[in-house]
Amino acid sequence: MTHVYGVVPSRRLGRSLGVSTIPFKTCNYSCIYCQLGRTTNMTNTRTSFYPPGEIINQVRDFVNEKGDESFDVVTVVGEGEPTLYRPLDQLAEAIRKLTFKPLVLITNGSLLFDEDLRDEISGFDIVMPTLDAYDQESFRCINRPLGKLEYEEVYEGLVDFSRKFDGELWLEVMLVKGYNDDEESLMLLKERISRVKTERVYINVPARPPAEDGVKIPDIATLKLARELLGATSIENMPVSNFLSRESDAESTVIEIIKRHPMSQEDIESLLRSRFGPGSAEVFFEKLSSRGDVERCEYVGKIFYRYRSIL
Ligand code: SF4
Repeated sequence: MTHVYGVVPSRRLGRSLGVSTIPFKTCNYSCIYCQLGRTTNMTNTRTSFYPPGEIINQVRDFVNEKGDESFDVVTVVGEGEPTLYRPLDQLAEAIRKLTFKPLVLITNGSLLFDEDLRDEISGFDIVMPTLDAYDQESFRCINRPLGKLEYEEVYEGLVDFSRKFDGELWLEVMLVKGYNDDEESLMLLKERISRVKTERVYINVPARPPAEDGVKIPDIATLKLARELLGATSIENMPVSNFLSRESDAESTVIEIIKRHPMSQEDIESLLRSRFGPGSAEVFFEKLSSRGDVERCEYVGKIFYRYRSIL
């Protein structure tokens, strides 16, 4: 299992070295907008999916080979919900010894009420939770959580964590047309966000192929209103840098990235050109499309490639 991927360009973080801690599509939500498709391993149990040493060794190998000037941050993220992994504190401690770069956790925020998890992530520099819903019904419709998760418990966990956490908390709101982008929903989100102690609020939109048909990007005027009401920055308006990979062949390079991050055909072409020089893109895309674990799809007028589990 490859746990380290990228470096991936992140609009918010710059060049992000991704560290994946969990098996593909392991999550306690199945968000309608998820760019990895529907959740195939729905669980709420935190466990050591892999020995910490296995993950840490791969981070060490990357840093030894590429040096830590090749990335701006180390981001614990991945193919599902990374806080389902334990022990995150051992990972954080070991990564700290390998690089001084900021350590970031991207999470759906569902388990921040859990005291053990809070202790484990107290050493991260930045925690980036998501808050898309404003009540149980919107939570059920957008995030489709595992049955026992209640909106109020999740939300209060986020509020409480935000007030106790010593690092920075950057909140992300995914806006989906017709679900949480009307003025009433935005006002309710504003009220919810007002109790969270957050350094930054970002608005995101489903810019890559979503899990469900019918998920759409809100209108430009709606996004403007949302930015004003929520005091937020739009992620889509931020510049993006280039992908970097350590894999030795073109196919593995693309597979290791799209497992966590679907890529448009244009992005793949540009990555392969910069990494391997000019070559026959047509043959490459034919080969990629013929794999059983890769899905080619059209979304917002572009061709995307994303990974899918064949288990
Ligand atoms: S978007 Fe994140 S939280 Fe939602 S289903 Fe996908 S991996 Fe899970």
